[in-house]
Amino acid sequence: MNQIETRLLELLEQRRQQQRYRSRRELGSAQGALVQVDGRELLNFCSNDYLGLASHPKLREAAVAAMSSYGLGSGASHLVCGHSREHHLLEEELAAFCGRERALVFSTGFMANVGVINALVGRGDAVFEDRLNHASLLDGGLSSGARFSRYRHNDLEHLRSQLQACESAARLIVSDGVFSMDGDEAPLPALARLASERGAWLMVDDAHGFGCEGENGGGMLEKYALTSSDVPVVVGTFGKAFGTFGAFVAGGNTLIKALIQSARSYIYTTAMPPALAAATRQSLRLVGEEKWRRQVLRDHIRRLREFCRSEGLPLLDSNTAIQPLVVGDDAGAQRLSELLWQRGIWVAAIRPPTVPEGTARLRLTLSAAHSDSQLERLFDELSACWKQLGGA
Ligand SMILES: *Cc1c(COP(=O)(O)O)cnc(C)c1O
Repeated sequence: MNQIETRLLELLEQRRQQQRYRSRRELGSAQGALVQVDGRELLNFCSNDYLGLASHPKLREAAVAAMSSYGLGSGASHLVCGHSREHHLLEEELAAFCGRERALVFSTGFMANVGVINALVGRGDAVFEDRLNHASLLDGGLSSGARFSRYRHNDLEHLRSQLQACESAARLIVSDGVFSMDGDEAPLPALARLASERGAWLMVDDAHGFGCEGENGGGMLEKYALTSSDVPVVVGTFGKAFGTFGAFVAGGNTLIKALIQSARSYIYTTAMPPALAAATRQSLRLVGEEKWRRQVLRDHIRRLREFCRSEGLPLLDSNTAIQPLVVGDDAGAQRLSELLWQRGIWVAAIRPPTVPEGTARLRLTLSAAHSDSQLERLFDELSACWKQLGGA
């Protein structure tokens, strides 16, 4: 047998033995609090649709209207002939939303992160990343050729000592704003101070903060009133609270101009469909105007945390829509997820290598789309399944 195929078969066998074999479930409905899978209706507590916008009729209408003028495909990359008026308006609106000079739309968050880090640093430079950063940030740092240092999660003393030992002049510090698998926040004001003391640029990927945090949904930057000099490079994604698809980078004029010239994952890829840009513009409007969505989400978070405290369920310390319930071993996490599934509740188990060894978990996520009674259903089923698992 071919050497590569042998290796693949070994990998698959190993994944099965470790209870880490990943499989996909087929959705037969729109994203929302209630979804259909195999003809069954399930209550969904694992999407990133935090504000309940993914299937909002106004987004659909905006997309359909744009599709009737622009068609579906964008036809080319932005620099050739794929940059439409909808993309451009979205960029202007995003810049205003973030309080930055300019913004640049990327096709996905993964591509934005890899593209930006590679455009900013290279051989001879240094990049510092929180060890729990999103995979795309870590991959961006590793592929850049810059000296790559990972600091302990949210440990600024560790970062400070790495910066002190660093001889490179060009230094980039990179952090999630809200950590995607733990739900906790980065200490951004302190990170920004440390970065400026040490002559480093700070890049924040606020994929899970935008829409949810800040009075107007401006994310962690708004929450802590962080300016362009505090955080010169901001990344946001549309696939989470905005309910659409794609991503953006916001910052100063020089940054954005340089990314257009040199970010390879911007240049060498097809522009997102203009209809998606149009839907995202509509979403941006709703995020700003419908503050009640953030309020409902806040209330749900508070109620879930109170419930878990009273039942002795070990939630991580998080105040965001991401509420991880750490089980520990892979098989236990998988079993808890299956028990809930049998009772009509969908919460995916997250296992290594996505999270560190021994911290397999259910990544519960809350949404403004959930009703109070749906939340109560979660509480009932969660406590029944937890007992069945032999916890508490
Ligand atoms: C989801 C996510 C991304 C990737 O964004 P996509 O648009 O889904 O590729 C990047 N960073 C963080 C922190 C994320 O959670």
